[in-house]
Amino acid sequence: MRRVSRLPLSAKVNDYLRRKQNRANMKKAVGTLTPTKEWDSARQTKKMESVLLTLQRMMGTHERCMYCHDSHGADIEHFWPKSPYPEKMFSWPNLLLCCTECGRFKGERFPLKNDHPLLIDPTVDEPWDDLDFDPITGNITPKFDLVSDSWSEKGVATVEVLQLDRREALSAGYLKTFRRLSSLLTRCLNVDTGVDTADLPATLREADDHGLLGWCLHGDGCNVPPFSDFRAHYPGEWTACVATLRSA
Ligand SMILES: [Zn+2]
Repeated sequence: MRRVSRLPLSAKVNDYLRRKQNRANMKKAVGTLTPTKEWDSARQTKKMESVLLTLQRMMGTHERCMYCHDSHGADIEHFWPKSPYPEKMFSWPNLLLCCTECGRFKGERFPLKNDHPLLIDPTVDEPWDDLDFDPITGNITPKFDLVSDSWSEKGVATVEVLQLDRREALSAGYLKTFRRLSSLLTRCLNVDTGVDTADLPATLREADDHGLLGWCLHGDGCNVPPFSDFRAHYPGEWTACVATLRSA
């Protein structure tokens, strides 16, 4: 998973969403709202197609699912599910891009704590603050916080709801990406004459099919070879690379 920057919608599409939300709120107030029906009818419009295209553009050329980064982001997902929370049904910050499988696992499951979501919103949260990666199994797991001596609650809920630690095809994809990123850094370490790091951030970003760079560079991955070796041998280049990718 990786943090995703939200792009703006056009004024026309924003206005359309606002009108649809007002209409849904009014229907809810008088008890005539059927969220699925309201959504399905709006979903057929060109304005909603433009919403989908914007979400896909936010994920780059591969248009991957914002939760798993593995499968194609096929449809618009409601972070706060639309049936229990119709007041957010047409709210742009609530709309994400999701694959069929993640959508099926999540369904209407949406754990809260003190009214705040326990699921990671990739357009708001830095996922690797709450998640960890196991480079042996390829599974994504909750992060353990040494200071509080406990597992991240957001990490636990997100892994559990999306089943990020028990999807074989996902683990295989994550491992493949991790090996690709590792071999790029190993190649840099094996150059005797010093590394040319000018292109390294872009090369790593290009190779990061599954949003693992966040873990490799500022999660626990920076303590795992070859990332730890690169950090020890080329501290200046490492810092520059992390800074470039963080601001990208
Ligand atoms: Zn997915």
